[in-house]
Amino acid sequence: MDLFSLSGKTALVTGARTGIGRAIAVGLAAAGAKLVLLGRGDLSGISSSVIDVVSVDLEDPSALSPALAPVLEAHQIDVLVNNAGTIGRGPASSVSLEDWRRVLSVNLDSAFVLSQLVGNQMLAAGSGKIVNIASLLSFQGGILVPAYTASKHALAGLTKALANEWASSNVQVNAIAPGYIATNNTAVLQADPEREPAISSRIPAGRWGSPEDLVGAAVFLSSRASDYVTGHVLVVDGGWMGR
Ligand code: NAD
Repeated sequence: MDLFSLSGKTALVTGARTGIGRAIAVGLAAAGAKLVLLGRGDLSGISSSVIDVVSVDLEDPSALSPALAPVLEAHQIDVLVNNAGTIGRGPASSVSLEDWRRVLSVNLDSAFVLSQLVGNQMLAAGSGKIVNIASLLSFQGGILVPAYTASKHALAGLTKALANEWASSNVQVNAIAPGYIATNNTAVLQADPEREPAISSRIPAGRWGSPEDLVGAAVFLSSRASDYVTGHVLVVDGGWMGR
């Protein structure tokens, strides 16, 4: 018996077009899962395991229920990965309410609505795994990213709240907190001649993470190997937090 096999399982991954979401989707498929991808842009060509695609903008969480209804009719979702995220950079003193709400809508509200919609199906089935992509800024204050930091702290809290509520129904809810991962999201930092060396020299592993560095944690938290793990935020950061 392979504890990590996802054969026969269906995983719904948000924001799988690029970066961490794409690597996780490909990794779950390699472990045997069929994929339902949800997000913006062209989601075709990511993996031959894709069985359905939902095109929706997560800035409008109210669009999720109608968009997801046919998917939930057609498929039993065993694994939900709330990965899609956005970041707004700038001082708290001048962030607009519109920008604040945009970040919270994508990073938190949509993760909640999706967890509720898919979670209800999992509760009825008596099993399921939800994996939220949190951040080091689920623990720390960050620099010039107040809405992002608030959203990721709240996502960690939501993870624990849902985990407590759903543990007795065999639905596990966990999060992964990536460290500094080289993706579009961090392109500004990677290109900053002052901040990039300050970051990379502080990472004990001696390098930025790649999206593929998150795959092991995602497969673990999606598989029966983690059946007694719930409400946990698993840091994958090359040692940053322990330093
Ligand atoms: P990315 O920009 O490559 O991926 C973000 C994904 O979210 C994209 O596929 C994008 O299409 C999707 N998305 C954004 N806004 C959306 C919207 N309104 N509607 C639908 N989809 C939307 O960056 P990434 O680094 O791969 O980010 C993935 C997740 O990892 C995010 O939640 C991010 O906060 C988190 N994260 C990243 C890092 C890092 O260092 N890169 C660190 C900690 C956490």
